[in-house]
Amino acid sequence: MSRVAYVNGRYVPHAQAGVHIEDRGYQFADGVYEVIALIGGTFLDEEGHHERLERSLRELRIAQPMGRKALSHVLRETVRRNRLTSGIVYLQVTRGVARRDHPFPANAQPSLVVTARRIKGPSSQAVEQGVGVITTPDIRWLRRDIKSISLLPNVLAKQAARENKAYEAWLVGEDGVVHEGSSTNAWIVTKEGVLVTHPPADAILNGITRLGVLAAARKQGIRVEERPFTVDEARKAKEAFISSTTSHVIPVVAIDGQPVGNGHPGEITRALLAGYLAGFGLSSGSFL
Ligand code: PMP
Repeated sequence: MSRVAYVNGRYVPHAQAGVHIEDRGYQFADGVYEVIALIGGTFLDEEGHHERLERSLRELRIAQPMGRKALSHVLRETVRRNRLTSGIVYLQVTRGVARRDHPFPANAQPSLVVTARRIKGPSSQAVEQGVGVITTPDIRWLRRDIKSISLLPNVLAKQAARENKAYEAWLVGEDGVVHEGSSTNAWIVTKEGVLVTHPPADAILNGITRLGVLAAARKQGIRVEERPFTVDEARKAKEAFISSTTSHVIPVVAIDGQPVGNGHPGEITRALLAGYLAGFGLSSGSFL
């Protein structure tokens, strides 16, 4: 089945979809993006993604390419034209096409690209047995709350993880604090059963899944502390996990090759995955 992409007002065959070489996304990474999961025909937390997109655009003073309702229609139409029931929708907005010059162009129109595709979600092995993470210095800029398309440090970190046979890289500040993963938020459960994750400051992206997991934790009466934690504290934790739109919740059982807790996925992690999915009326998060 041939794929279709939405590019600036037109639905075009994926293979022929393109933007101009002077698009500021291409020249300066001057843009933002969102990834929304679709499972069984339902978008997970679409409103949360719209809200974060609008915030990212506001922070960068990029105009919204269209209103929320119109954008929602484009997302659905892209899904429909790709005959997708489960997978992801990717959307990207850049400041538009203009002669290459650093200051904002006077009258460029923002570019909007939307694609949709099937993905392989987290493997059952990852969910059931857990994964390993490595730690690496966080070399990103200081506005990580903006979902910028400038992802080079994240790319390098994820590649380092792959080369070390780990699933994810945790990005760590100079003070030893774990900010988040290269494409996930990072969590631990202390020996006292307290769920800990970095507060949603400029240091991290406030994951939509993160918010869903926090809601599930509160519903389950789990004590939550949104505060920084260090690699040292994570090593001594009872449980650890990562969260994201495409991974949902995956247990972390090793950090830099050292086991976390008893080296197996923890009960609270399992309960939070179930609770997170139950928030969408799902009992399992299959993208297949
Ligand atoms: N942190 C970073 C750096 C990310 O790239 C992502 C995924 N885009 C997340 C956290 C998780 O965010 P979400 O739950 O919205 O997918």
